Amino acid sequence: MGHMRKNTISRLKSELNTNSKVVIIGHKNPDGDALGSTLGLSLFLEQFGIATQVVMPNGFPDFLKWLPGINTVLCYDTDKSECEKKLLDSDFVFTLDFNHLDRIGSGLGEFLTKLDKSFVMIDHHQEPSDYAEFMLVDTHIASTCELVYEFITTEYSEQKLTAEVASCLYTGIMTDTGSFRFPSTTSKTHRIIADLIDAGAKNSQIHQDIYDNNAESRLHLLGKALQNLKVLKGFSTAYTYLSQEDLNTHGFKKGDTEGFVNYALSLKGIKFAVIFIENKAEEIIKISLRSIGDFDVNTFARSHFNGGGHKNAAGGKSDLDLKSTLAEFENMLTTYKEKLS
Ligand code: 5GP
Ligand code: MN
Repeated sequence: MGHMRKNTISRLKSELNTNSKVVIIGHKNPDGDALGSTLGLSLFLEQFGIATQVVMPNGFPDFLKWLPGINTVLCYDTDKSECEKKLLDSDFVFTLDFNHLDRIGSGLGEFLTKLDKSFVMIDHHQEPSDYAEFMLVDTHIASTCELVYEFITTEYSEQKLTAEVASCLYTGIMTDTGSFRFPSTTSKTHRIIADLIDAGAKNSQIHQDIYDNNAESRLHLLGKALQNLKVLKGFSTAYTYLSQEDLNTHGFKKGDTEGFVNYALSLKGIKFAVIFIENKAEEIIKISLRSIGDFDVNTFARSHFNGGGHKNAAGGKSDLDLKSTLAEFENMLTTYKEKLS
């Protein structure tokens, strides 16, 4: 599945008007792209009188709490009835930065499955499902924020991009491209970024807010993850893990483990890196997978860990305990020996 710009996305503009009520949803455990794209689109549409409400399945990490408009976000896990009211009262439900209703948690997912509204999908993940009437989907694009930029600048070229909208979109492009270094980064990405800076995105401040805001405890948690690192040279693979106890003893907060898997991937000669993070409350091991080059972690995550994502960055989960999950992972690598060497 490459890209799909259903003609209908341009029809959407003629159906959206100042009486429209729009709910905009991002995926569970929202990252910079999920929050940046939903808030950017929301602030943009609000400018000319379209009523919007951003809904997230659950809360967000501290390093994203400065985003413009963040205080207006409703979380389904703490504000279920208000979220459902907004959804029932809406005309359009935009779903951004995910493409399956199982990415937003079972409660909200089931509610949306039964909800009879016009759905819009703007997304860049592999293998979209078909719940949306309007789709702007391109799996070659690095971030959903770039697709939101494309949508608003082509459909609403008469509207100005405000500094707040620009900062939101800048954030998602920056985080999903690994600060403009992943292969998905193109000259077009940089042209969009240039335009966003011209529109007032505070680029240097955004880097600081997101990457230079560490609590001391987070660096110690990183230290623990680095201690747990295991390198499997024969498979060009490195993985690490954090147990619930590791998280507890280092005052874990949402978002603290973001980017840890990249340290494993930064090892010379490593093509495949994974972090396993125990979550006792949800009784799962949350897994982040990354690769360099041809090894397809989207397929790997789909086949073994009930997950998905992109070729070089994917996620999933395991219902086994941590020790068994790690053992099983090492075991399954044997069938990939050829692909990894
Ligand atoms: P991360 O490892 O940073 O959580 O996620 C990497 C990529 O995989 C992101 O694009 C994210 O949306 C996707 N992803 C993460 N977890 C899951 C999952 O459980 N299922 C699916 N389908 N995608 C996931
Ligand atoms: Mn994304």
